[in-house]
Amino acid sequence: MIARKKVWPRTIGDLLSMIFVLVVVPLMYWFGLWIILPALYENKNLAYTFHFILGSFILLNIVGNFTYTVLCDTSIGGRIVPMSTAKIADGWRLCATCECMSPPRSWHCNTCDICILKRDHHCVFTGCCVGYYNHRYFIMFLWYLFLGATYAFYYGSLFIWSRMPFEFPMSVIKMVFPVAIFFFGFDSSMDQFYLLLYVVSAVGTLYTGVLCIYHFNLILRGVVGNESNKKDFTYDVGWKDNIREVFGERWYLAWLLFYVESKLPHDGVSWHHLCSKKD
Ligand SMILES: [Zn+2]
Ligand SMILES: [Zn+2]
Repeated sequence: MIARKKVWPRTIGDLLSMIFVLVVVPLMYWFGLWIILPALYENKNLAYTFHFILGSFILLNIVGNFTYTVLCDTSIGGRIVPMSTAKIADGWRLCATCECMSPPRSWHCNTCDICILKRDHHCVFTGCCVGYYNHRYFIMFLWYLFLGATYAFYYGSLFIWSRMPFEFPMSVIKMVFPVAIFFFGFDSSMDQFYLLLYVVSAVGTLYTGVLCIYHFNLILRGVVGNESNKKDFTYDVGWKDNIREVFGERWYLAWLLFYVESKLPHDGVSWHHLCSKKD
């Protein structure tokens, strides 16, 4: 893996989004494993241990995949190929900003200020682009966020409604405006803070769930965001090989832990072999 040198967020939007993730994820972990679990399993039995290990495993993968997404350089930097007219026919194009020839499927990111190999999109939560070399880590970051949020939401439901009997309309108001209720002193109790975290887990489950469906759908169809918008399925080689293109040769293990090595089938620069594979 080539490490990215400038990893700090470049815009205020990126910075705030990244801070949000870095605050909310540890808070959710604390809420789930230090508040909810001991309340639901008072005698710390086998079920408690199981959930504690599973929750920690999810956190490990969120942090690991987030770090790898941020650190992994997926740009054309260090991989720049000299301008050649012959390559123009193969879908290469001149990037005026980078002043070099850019391979097919790459796209210039104005925020990262460089062309990104097989660019999917610029992710504000990691402050970097998602492309050929960090696609797997981004998807797994998203997937484990979804698992974690769902987990927190499910057990949060059992926890919250056993502590705070549902009362209409006050419970609804507290759930719709949890931040205002807590921070403006209408109810600064810990219960209201737990309710705030519970609402965050509900919104997080919905948000990451929708993103997971969207991104897994793109992967299975062998496209990145830009190609999907243009309905360009030039590099779709069937769902099994499309999965290998993102998760590598050991795709069946790559989802399990972020540091499991899984060699990507190509270099992210030359793509003509995929077209010939289809013919
Ligand atoms: Zn460029
Ligand atoms: Zn970018």
